[in-house]
Amino acid sequence: MSKATVKVPTPLRTFTGGKAELALEATTVGGLVEELTHEHPELRRHLFTPDGRLRSFVTVYLNDEDVRYLEREATPVREGDVVSIVPAIAGGSTAAPPSPAGLDRSGSAPEPPERFSSEELRRYSRHLLLPEVGVVGQRRLKHAKVLLVGAGGLGSPAALYLAAAGVGTLGLVEFDAVDLSNLQRQVLYTTRDVGRPKLLAAKERLEALNPGVRVIPHEERLTADNALEILRPYDVVVDGTDNFPTRYLVNDAAVLLGKPNVYGSIYRFEGQVSVFDARRGPCYRCLYPEPPPADLVPSCAEAGVLGVLPGLVGVLQATETVKLLLGQGDPLIGRLLLFDALGLTFRELTLRKNPHCVLCSAEATQKGLIDYPAFCGVPGAGEEAAGAGGVPTIEPEELAAALKGDDPPLVVDVREPQELAISAIPGAVLIPRAELAERVDEITRAREVVLVCSSGARSAQSTRLLLDLGFQHVRNLKGGINAWSDRVDPTVARY
Ligand SMILES: [Zn+2]
Repeated sequence: MSKATVKVPTPLRTFTGGKAELALEATTVGGLVEELTHEHPELRRHLFTPDGRLRSFVTVYLNDEDVRYLEREATPVREGDVVSIVPAIAGGSTAAPPSPAGLDRSGSAPEPPERFSSEELRRYSRHLLLPEVGVVGQRRLKHAKVLLVGAGGLGSPAALYLAAAGVGTLGLVEFDAVDLSNLQRQVLYTTRDVGRPKLLAAKERLEALNPGVRVIPHEERLTADNALEILRPYDVVVDGTDNFPTRYLVNDAAVLLGKPNVYGSIYRFEGQVSVFDARRGPCYRCLYPEPPPADLVPSCAEAGVLGVLPGLVGVLQATETVKLLLGQGDPLIGRLLLFDALGLTFRELTLRKNPHCVLCSAEATQKGLIDYPAFCGVPGAGEEAAGAGGVPTIEPEELAAALKGDDPPLVVDVREPQELAISAIPGAVLIPRAELAERVDEITRAREVVLVCSSGARSAQSTRLLLDLGFQHVRNLKGGINAWSDRVDPTVARY
């Protein structure tokens, strides 16, 4: 037996009593994970499928190597080894030669001997002084086209730095409006922009920063129908999405079009960054062949995120993008950078191209785009939440009346304790969603039960869970506490 350290990522720490790492003894990686789930049984459901296989959205690393390319669960563990569990979060053999990296300019004519204006020479002087950039590099940036998918937490800093750096054309895919709760991290926007379309505000801000940049707005949701057309004109794609269907869509479209995809994702205090370029290394599907089931994925809105974290990750994405455009340095191809803000640590894991990848390997079977919401188990538009379509609901006004009646329902709030401190429905019992299955005995079956959360999504999933457990009279508060605030009691805070 060897003693090794098992590192637990933030999303799974709810099930280890908050522990980030554990010292455990075993002879193999599989034995260690077994030992881990023995100590913390709730983890089992998240790490293993019902028939005992390690779930494919979870990768396990021994030191910095993916165990799928060692001996999988049978990989021996030595004293002092570090085993990391790296789940997908929603949010290669290094380096080509220093040509405009990854950008296919092979057949194109020599770049024109364009002259910069005196204004441009001053604006970019600190770049021009760098031998790795110079006039030639700055000209490449000026003629480059970068598409940012999402102009939120990651897209904001990335767009600002790319515009400042003089990337000539920036495409933005975004359809949201600026919300007050965005301003804690989405630094493209100001308080005055609240309520305005993000695209409009972003275009103004970026053009004010650098009038030499052309901002192309794509005011639509990226879908399998429009993705190839939208991505096609661009040299590099920056993935700043916050959900799995769009993440797989961006990956697949980039692979099919042969474009580098600069990936970033964040969760609470942790970030991941990589560059996926299937021509020179792995793609996102090589890392995670399948998404996590929708009900195991907390969103940013649910989990929270440290405001500066997307700033750091987005700036790393901008850095990789500029390097790709310049053809300088070692891009993060085949490497996954993990960042933990609480410990202020950076770790780097090796990513390998999956020889069986359905998309980018020699034996690829997927030749086009697919139905991503279905692939990720997310129900279509109109349904309330992942995996919870069709559960019985109750309107806020109806609940308010029922609570005043003779036989009031039991209100179970499935949010996190810190959310209860923001707002609550009086008399509600708090059982966070992740604990619901094991604390179900605390809920009486004698009364009607109404489940609530902030927006109605988590509580819809919880309603489904209780129905599956045999509860008869369970309903979901439609629109959650935010709808309650709008329609019943404005003194309850929205957030
Ligand atoms: Zn692949």
